Amino acid sequence: MAYLNIDSKKERTYDAIVIGSGISGGWSAKELCEKGLKTLVLERGRDVKHIKDYPTTNMYPWEFEHRNEIPYQIKKENPIVSRCYAFHEDAAHFFVKDAEHPYLQEKPFDWIRGYQVGGKSLLWARQTQRWSDFDFEGPARDASP
Ligand SMILES: Cc1cc2nc3c(=O)[nH]c(=O)nc-3n(C[C@H](O)[C@H](O)[C@H](O)COP(=O)(O)OP(=O)(O)OC[C@H]3O[C@@H](n4cnc5c(N)ncnc54)[C@H](O)[C@@H]3O)c2cc1C
Repeated sequence: MAYLNIDSKKERTYDAIVIGSGISGGWSAKELCEKGLKTLVLERGRDVKHIKDYPTTNMYPWEFEHRNEIPYQIKKENPIVSRCYAFHEDAAHFFVKDAEHPYLQEKPFDWIRGYQVGGKSLLWARQTQRWSDFDFEGPARDASP
């Protein structure tokens, strides 16, 4: 008798599907789970294991092949991502390189991307803004009638 996985549809049916596991997606998934929704998170990038996948964290500057600088050739091949202040040898592996996913720019726009579980939360500088009501009223203040 053929094996029929009759639970497949039930197992693969979700209340919510979150695309991307960065701060936005990760936080959304947390909220959805806490509200009891069966939630699926889809992430295009690789899984990043704590400690094991941080190959540069405990390195001293003099241990990097280029003293933590990006070589000229790589900068030349990656003009967009090279404009990001944090694109150095110690973090380059968490950045999407320009040629990996090119995009059209109608107006200049530096799109810094990180394809991995956690997205750009693995790159952020740990500055946390404290928003006030004033910040959320910007569109109403600035919008023309
Ligand atoms: C160097 C640097 C320093 C920063 N420092 C700060 C700071 O100090 N303070 C601060 O507030 N902000 C900082 N930021 C900004 C902050 O890190 C980002 O705004 C934030 O991490 C974006 O989160 P996100 O979830 O919106 O997007 P992302 O983190 O970009 O997440 C998107 C996720 O979606 C995935 N994805 C994309 N396409 C698909 C697809 N088709 N299918 C499945 N998955 C997909 C990606 O792989 C990624 O994991 C910094 C950013 C950078 C680059």
